[in-house]
Amino acid sequence: MRTVTTALASLAALTLVTAAAHAATVYTGDVIQGKRVVSALDVNDLEPGKKHSFYFQGVQMGTGQHWYLPVVVAKGARPGKKILLISGVHGDEVSPVDAVQRTMAVLDPAQMSGTVTAVYDVSRPAKEGVTRMWPIAQWGGQLIDLNRVWPGNEDGGNAAIRHAGLVFNRLFKPNADYALDYHTAATGGDFTAFIFAKLGKPEIRAMAELFPIEQIKSDPGFPGTLETSLVEAGIPALTIEIGGPRSYDRRLIPLFVEGGLNVLKLHGVIPGPMGRTAKDAGTFFGDDFHTVRATHGGFLELLVDLTDRVAAGQKVAIQRNSFGEVVKEYVSGVAGQVSTIQRDAMIEPGTRVVQILHDSADPKCDGDGCGEESSDYVE
Ligand SMILES: [Zn+2]
Repeated sequence: MRTVTTALASLAALTLVTAAAHAATVYTGDVIQGKRVVSALDVNDLEPGKKHSFYFQGVQMGTGQHWYLPVVVAKGARPGKKILLISGVHGDEVSPVDAVQRTMAVLDPAQMSGTVTAVYDVSRPAKEGVTRMWPIAQWGGQLIDLNRVWPGNEDGGNAAIRHAGLVFNRLFKPNADYALDYHTAATGGDFTAFIFAKLGKPEIRAMAELFPIEQIKSDPGFPGTLETSLVEAGIPALTIEIGGPRSYDRRLIPLFVEGGLNVLKLHGVIPGPMGRTAKDAGTFFGDDFHTVRATHGGFLELLVDLTDRVAAGQKVAIQRNSFGEVVKEYVSGVAGQVSTIQRDAMIEPGTRVVQILHDSADPKCDGDGCGEESSDYVE
């Protein structure tokens, strides 16, 4: 009897292990705009050598309806690494859509060893409003930054956190050995062609250095970002920044398509020679941001632009009041390169005027770099 019980216990344990290793795709039976709806995805279940499209069923809303995320899977003819490309965590960032679509467009599953999964419109209600934040119905219409609530919680206290939990557990985690999360600056600001990466981790550094872009920051990440949550779940990831919000940046997008394809080549998913890399592009590396912040309200005249080199003590902006009187002149406290700037001319005190990427002498910035206050991340 004891033997039978032990055998049954072993069988139960084995079943659990199998279930954990193989999440299994769940089809809800719904079809929306010709796409089958899934509430869980495991790319291992899909037919090799072709592309597949789905809607992933996200969180339910107050109306009882759900938010759905477009998902495209390029499943290689042969097995290999699983790469996840994510766009739309913020709703006012559209160059990520184009960069991921263009990357997917050049993939031929018949020539691939492994799988590339593209996910769009992650924060769907923010996307509909062309805004950074997800508006929830609770507490009189709070705005939630979805890139501060990862890995989410399926039983969490609001719809955005639950949505993040569903997406993280049932869509991202089972289908990613490596992940790229594509962003831009938030509305009102602007960014270079930039990557945040935990450069102290060799697997992450190897991916970041394959992008022929303008700047890379060694960065420890911030709790609640998707990049940080993926890395903590054992999935090396980068936060990518493709310039400014709301429109396609035709100059910068191709750099990230080339870099993304390089990452797929690094992991053996697609064949072919490497394209240009950070080394070829002369990418500027830094491990700290110097943030110049407005101390007054008023109108801003910028004296520098993105990627400009600045010296310590250099004047970067002049601010005037409505009488045209100068109320403040802002200077950089460090030598480095301009990474982000404020494009909105009229600003309140506290607003970031510019952020300058530089190499800090502080040993605490070695390894994965120095981090920011949450409000200083502009990803
Ligand atoms: Zn973003």
